[in-house]
Amino acid sequence: MSDLKLCQGTKCHTYHTQDRLKGSKDNKTYQTRRRSSFYYGNSNFCSVNCQNDWFYEYGNRAIDHFGRSTEPKHLTEQNAWVKDYNWDNGRGGYNDNERNYFYVNGITKEQRPLTEAQYNDRSYTINTGE
Ligand SMILES: [Zn+2]
Repeated sequence: MSDLKLCQGTKCHTYHTQDRLKGSKDNKTYQTRRRSSFYYGNSNFCSVNCQNDWFYEYGNRAIDHFGRSTEPKHLTEQNAWVKDYNWDNGRGGYNDNERNYFYVNGITKEQRPLTEAQYNDRSYTINTGE
């Protein structure tokens, strides 16, 4: 039980679903969902609804806390690199188990090779600036 997480949705317990109804016969209550993992909001919410409820309640404060954007951001050649892959093995062939990973620049369309490990590493980037 201790490894289970609670949905962080502020109204999770107010949604009447059978799986939220807990307790003994005369003492049943709808309760916040508890799971080993969730699919939404970095594994904090049981549903998009619960994620939206949280944001409605706390979103403005969270944005103010971490810094509200006051100027538009600009996509330039230096920060336009996005990771992509295709099924071409790079030697004119095609293989279900062999993806060809690369960076592609959204502005210049230039491509640069990537390893699978670099592709999967969310912190790996060749972008400079935001
Ligand atoms: Zn929930």
